[in-house]
Amino acid sequence: MEIRVSELSLILLVGASGSGKSTFARKHFASTEILSSDFFRAMISDDETNQSVSGSAFEVLHHVCTKRLGLGKFTVIDATNVLAESRRPLLEIARMHYVPVEAIVLKVPPEICFERNRSRGNRNFGPHVIENHTRFLERSLEQLNHEGYKAIHILESPEQIDQVQIVRIKEEFNLKEELGPFDIIGDVHGCFDELIQLLTKLGYDLIPVEDIDDQRTYDLSHPQGRKLIFVGDLVDRGPKTPEVLRMVMRAYERGLAYSVRGNHEDKLLRKMKGNPVKVSVGLQKALDQLATQPAAFSERVLDFLDHLPFHIILDQGRLVVAHAGLPAELQGRIADRVRAFCLYGATTGEMDSFGLPVRLDWSNDYHGFARVVYGHTPSYEAFWKNKTICIDTGCVFGGKLTALRYPSLEIVSVPALQTYMEPKRPMLHPSEDPQ
Ligand code: GDP
Ligand code: MG
Repeated sequence: MEIRVSELSLILLVGASGSGKSTFARKHFASTEILSSDFFRAMISDDETNQSVSGSAFEVLHHVCTKRLGLGKFTVIDATNVLAESRRPLLEIARMHYVPVEAIVLKVPPEICFERNRSRGNRNFGPHVIENHTRFLERSLEQLNHEGYKAIHILESPEQIDQVQIVRIKEEFNLKEELGPFDIIGDVHGCFDELIQLLTKLGYDLIPVEDIDDQRTYDLSHPQGRKLIFVGDLVDRGPKTPEVLRMVMRAYERGLAYSVRGNHEDKLLRKMKGNPVKVSVGLQKALDQLATQPAAFSERVLDFLDHLPFHIILDQGRLVVAHAGLPAELQGRIADRVRAFCLYGATTGEMDSFGLPVRLDWSNDYHGFARVVYGHTPSYEAFWKNKTICIDTGCVFGGKLTALRYPSLEIVSVPALQTYMEPKRPMLHPSEDPQ
């Protein structure tokens, strides 16, 4: 049996004393990843069976757990965890750090647990205690479904426990092994002609090809092996959404480009999936343009959009790209709040005089390790604040299309060929706070 767990998760082992939790943990996880209640009892009192120091042991265990999840480290809790109140603080720590929790339940008959405890000379866990554990475990099996786990894995017998293989799943945002050099491109919004000009200016070779549906496009390559990263909002508003998607999808399929999801991709995707969305003028343009393409193209687009990550982490963690930016505590994390921030950024909940949400500038107090490159908020010039840079220079609004070269941090732009749409609110000047 294979148990697939995210590389970012808190794992709670759940089972009576003697069910084999510590054995299981040692077999499948690194010693520094395992926080064992026995270990902390021993650390405090030189005796791992000393139940009278359990309170202190869990206090320290929770503290270490907090520190590890604060760093986004994979962590396993080796304790019985058969009571809801002992699981609750662990779930709370995970929630505070946007880390998903998975439970692995070891169901072993009480006679076997008792016998194992007896043969290892642990007199704390007589038949009575084990029976209690087993009863609590039975109750837990119902409770677990309501406690908010990402997954609950139940191992029904010692044989099944023995056959388990743990597979760690790399998260979609983890591109840490991509080291660059990159050219990171701001919001394109269907401005295909400007994109071509910018790529040419950046030194890309554009080789005309016929796509699988005989439509014309270009294959991209750079003599220095550079890769392209898009900050999202490739689509909508502008004149050539399908052309942009076609070229970017091909580059993506060849491993030469990545994109994160912008709020416009997210909305287009929801519309294409048949969900009710309010179709704006800009979205309608994209839908009309896509309707002129061969039918299979839309399916390809849907699949591409559906797999766009909300943020990506590159270059050993030194670079983060998210459409609307991302504060340090949400980077490399999984939660609705992370996804929402990536798409829309922080808003105050109020509307401005243009009827648009008032944006909060998260970058003012950004002190994270990674540089964060984002788009979403059009301004006349790309601007750095702390270690963050917004590179949406409003091409579709008649501004320009901007690339940030990485790691040199050089900025390269081309002017818009025309104003394709009037912005609802005026573009920002770099001296202004993006409010
Ligand atoms: P925990 O109390 O749930 O952490 O259980 P342990 O992992 O410490 O195991 C309790 C005892 O059972 C130890 O002496 C282990 O060596 C033994 N044990 C654990 N798993 C197995 C197993 O699969 N088969 C057998 N025969 N013994 C096991
Ligand atoms: Mg143990």
